[in-house]
Amino acid sequence: MKKAVFPGSFDPITSGHVDIVKRAVPLFDEIIIAIGVNTSKKYLFPLDQRIAWLEKVFENEPSVKVDSYEGLTAHYCKNIGANYMLRGLRNASDFDYEKTISQLNSIVGDGLETLFLISRPSFSHISSTIVREIIKGKGDASPFLPPEIKI
Ligand code: ADP
Repeated sequence: MKKAVFPGSFDPITSGHVDIVKRAVPLFDEIIIAIGVNTSKKYLFPLDQRIAWLEKVFENEPSVKVDSYEGLTAHYCKNIGANYMLRGLRNASDFDYEKTISQLNSIVGDGLETLFLISRPSFSHISSTIVREIIKGKGDASPFLPPEIKI
């Protein structure tokens, strides 16, 4: 069974995340969107809210599950029996960062493979960071959010 973990903060989920997951659905038997919880990091939205949004967006995708975890992503993947990690690449800085992390994860995760999907041009400008700034500034973030999410 081909099982992949799509890890992230999803603070909040954006249309860019949704596009990556939907494009990966035909590639895996199961995709677990996993929210990494770092107790020393401050999030804009509580974990329960982020989980609820992910579940709503993917309620009609039976192979997509939602979970959360603490600790190393590579250990989480091993614990749940996932041999693949899914990540999205928007630009060269994503690539530089992700390249190192995937090489480390291959060692820490004992051969864990990372699969990268390049962002489609219509989503490559979208990030949760920008969306949070728009929300904090009382702007309209809806062009960057899946239609199921109203903030
Ligand atoms: P992290 O804090 O681990 O970067 P994010 O929630 O910001 O978590 O992102 C999770 C994954 O989604 C990462 O692989 C990131 O590169 C990818 N991603 C985020 N936004 C986009 C986008 N607009 N297009 C494609 N991939 C994206």
